Amino acid sequence: MPELPEVETIVRTLRPVLTGKTILSADLRWTRTLAAPSPAVFKKRIKGQQIESISRRAKFLDLKLSDMHLVFHLRMSGDLLVVLGGYQPAKHDRLIAKLSGDTSLIFSDPRKFGRIWLVQDTKYIFRDLGMEPLSEGFSPDWLYSALNNRRRQLKPLLLDQGFLAGLGNIYTDEALFLAKLHPLTSSDAITKKKAAGLWLAIREVLEEGIRRNGASIDWVYRGGDFQNHFRVYGRTGEPCPVCKTPVKRITVGQRGTHFCPHCQVRAKSKYPVK
Ligand SMILES: [Zn+2]
Repeated sequence: MPELPEVETIVRTLRPVLTGKTILSADLRWTRTLAAPSPAVFKKRIKGQQIESISRRAKFLDLKLSDMHLVFHLRMSGDLLVVLGGYQPAKHDRLIAKLSGDTSLIFSDPRKFGRIWLVQDTKYIFRDLGMEPLSEGFSPDWLYSALNNRRRQLKPLLLDQGFLAGLGNIYTDEALFLAKLHPLTSSDAITKKKAAGLWLAIREVLEEGIRRNGASIDWVYRGGDFQNHFRVYGRTGEPCPVCKTPVKRITVGQRGTHFCPHCQVRAKSKYPVK
């Protein structure tokens, strides 16, 4: 499933090719991909809209149009492609938008979990999203008080999009490893120093992921190679890169969780973790 660095990579790839293009028509090939509005209204409203800019909020892609926003969430298997010249629709294409300059924007999604919105205001789509981890607001102090205002295990808390927006299973496991924090540590047991370490680790893994164009795993191959640099994710039984203890896998909140049982010592909690 694409996480923040993978979506950011797509945004950076699409930005130079899509900015300034006009949407001439839209062929919606699987109507349930469209979250809002109705297919008829969508087709009518999108016609003639110019793509002014492209940005990312959490794992959403936001195409700012002349007077609307075209928003995508890729979920499990969605992908956005730009094709120059004639295009033959493929089996998993859910939306094909014809653009000026003999270009097509294609939303392909084999598993059909991805969603598209065409809205005037993105507020209601983004309303439940928490802090953006690459924004200025995400600071060591913010993280320290946000962790201490809650009493939850670190792994599920970091995955909670309403807490921090954009982290998924891979980057959470990698960040907790770098910060030497056990995934089951209670958030309110984190000292100011540990919070600063976790803040740095989150920034580092996300920036590394973006630098490596994301990870190409269990998903459409985009040329990213972060999967070759995972320290613990997906490395069950392999030696920890720091201490050589075999990496352990446990299930936390139904998610496979990878960590080093030696390096990631569980901090003492003021309260027992449920
Ligand atoms: Zn270790």
